[in-house]
Amino acid sequence: MAQRGYIGTEHPKLEDLDRCTRCGLCEQACPTYRLLKFEPDSPRGRIFLMKEVAEGRVGVNANLAQHLYACLGCRACETACPSGVEFGKLLELGRHQVELHGDISPERRGWRLFRAFAFERILPNPWLFHVLMFPARLLQALPGLLACAQSLPLPHKLRQLVRMIPRANRSRDQREVDAQGEVDRYSSGVISARGKQRARVGLFVGCVMGSLFSHVHRATIRVLTRNGCEVVVVPGQWCCGALNLHAGERKRAAAMARSNIAAFNRERLDAIVVNSAGCGATMKEYADLLDGDSESVIFSGKVKDAGEFLSELGLLSKPQRLKTTGTYQDACHLAHGQRVRKQPRALLAQIPGLTLVEMPHPDQCCGAAGVYNLTHGDLSGKILAEKLDEIALTKAELVVTTNPGCAMQLQAGLMERHMNVRVCHLMELLDESYSIRP
Ligand code: SF4
Ligand code: SF4
Repeated sequence: MAQRGYIGTEHPKLEDLDRCTRCGLCEQACPTYRLLKFEPDSPRGRIFLMKEVAEGRVGVNANLAQHLYACLGCRACETACPSGVEFGKLLELGRHQVELHGDISPERRGWRLFRAFAFERILPNPWLFHVLMFPARLLQALPGLLACAQSLPLPHKLRQLVRMIPRANRSRDQREVDAQGEVDRYSSGVISARGKQRARVGLFVGCVMGSLFSHVHRATIRVLTRNGCEVVVVPGQWCCGALNLHAGERKRAAAMARSNIAAFNRERLDAIVVNSAGCGATMKEYADLLDGDSESVIFSGKVKDAGEFLSELGLLSKPQRLKTTGTYQDACHLAHGQRVRKQPRALLAQIPGLTLVEMPHPDQCCGAAGVYNLTHGDLSGKILAEKLDEIALTKAELVVTTNPGCAMQLQAGLMERHMNVRVCHLMELLDESYSIRP
């Protein structure tokens, strides 16, 4: 029989679980409860299961594991909760305990093998990560071949993966600016502000963003420098550790956090700009992961989402007319995790000619959630279908988002439905508008 209660000190604490008054106001905000209509797949149900263990009535078991891993970690329940329950942190700690307890069921074994390979071997190793990403990057560098591969009738899973590879077309103007040298050496260096310098910022490059979204990094640098920021790409930075943390893998997540903190704290920076919502949310919470260590507090205090930072700094350079209709998809880790909603919309409102049509539920998860679309394909597909229905209602030509996972999930879903809607990052759209000659 499994040992009752949790192991060690890193586990959901009773006082945090007790903040839940069981009011149920979060239930309808929860995508898994909405679809499954089963209490253990709701935030309240998951808190109840974690509390049973915290009270020592049962041990960490397969039932707890199943319902914690069926959660998207979208944190919509945090926004809905009037009692301030920090569900995201409880979930991370609960999953950490599941992982500490080893192979608690045959179904967990496959996951643990995947986890050991993906999160313990590949993610902490930039070299190995880039080698594995090479085929996707090669396709991305050959847009014609990528478009062809994405229209092939491949088996479902493979088709989904190929359709997730971001299309990264640069306009002639953007290529000309990049060819001047400054942006193309973004992988490590200092890119000067255009005109009078207003701030000195560090750009967080990350793993998936650095590998498959280098076009978004280039766009972010062009937008930042145009608005008076000197951009520093510090050497020695790597993956933020979010995927490890969400998979209950705290030890490596903490090591990755420490190495990023050391890399960025070597520079004098006004802000650390992050253009991936999931990474930004994790980096703003490094201090929690590292027990309030003073360096991590300074670091986390400087982390800003790119849209949040630019909106607060104020645009110096006026965007040009971009005649199109768009809709904005709130990334969960930006809206619910960082409470950043108004700032990206404020930037979009400054693009002349852009008509922004809101979806009925723009801050509802798209089903990507890290590797959820791989581990819970059916549920992820149903959640995505709701999102695509809402996008169709807006009749938008483009969906603007701020997270790589959402961008890939939405692009694959839109292709599958033959919807002619482009997915782009907020920084790409601003950059596009800047590249238009007045
Ligand atoms: S994080 Fe999202 S999926 Fe998980 S319980 Fe909260 S609302 Fe539901
Ligand atoms: S809204 Fe908050 S307090 Fe109410 S059931 Fe959900 S988590 Fe508990």
